[in-house]
Amino acid sequence: MFGLLFSLLPMILIGYYFFTMKKGNDISWEIRRGMICPSCKENLPVNDGEFPYDPKKENIVTCISCKRDEAIDSVVGGRKHLLSKIRIYFISDKFKTVQKILLGVSCAFVLVDITCICFGIKGMSVFSNGFNTLYWVIMLIRRRYTSIKKTPQD
Ligand SMILES: [Zn+2]
Repeated sequence: MFGLLFSLLPMILIGYYFFTMKKGNDISWEIRRGMICPSCKENLPVNDGEFPYDPKKENIVTCISCKRDEAIDSVVGGRKHLLSKIRIYFISDKFKTVQKILLGVSCAFVLVDITCICFGIKGMSVFSNGFNTLYWVIMLIRRRYTSIKKTPQD
């Protein structure tokens, strides 16, 4: 029973991922161009007459109030600034490379799994399922960081 549930887990996560895609708006581009704060997801103020962002360059900016929160939090030994760094890493372009590698490894695992099944070797699905689950959990975390709830007029 547990084995069946475990093998279905990646499927459930994929389903949930696409469900969240329908529910929310992706704002990762806006965050990466410094238009929206990655922490509170509020629009960042735009300087008058100045083009606020370069569409080709990544520039993740945390708003003043979130920066202040993180600074205060780090004084009292909190982990907000660390979480903020992790969040920014997940949103950044750098992470896209990691994501591609993870997807490649994930596909490799599935291929090895299929080959093993063809040759009658059992037990390899645990690895491919485990890795697939991990991949989709990471994707869901990123999704959480880069989306906002759709407003009724969307
Ligand atoms: Zn903020």
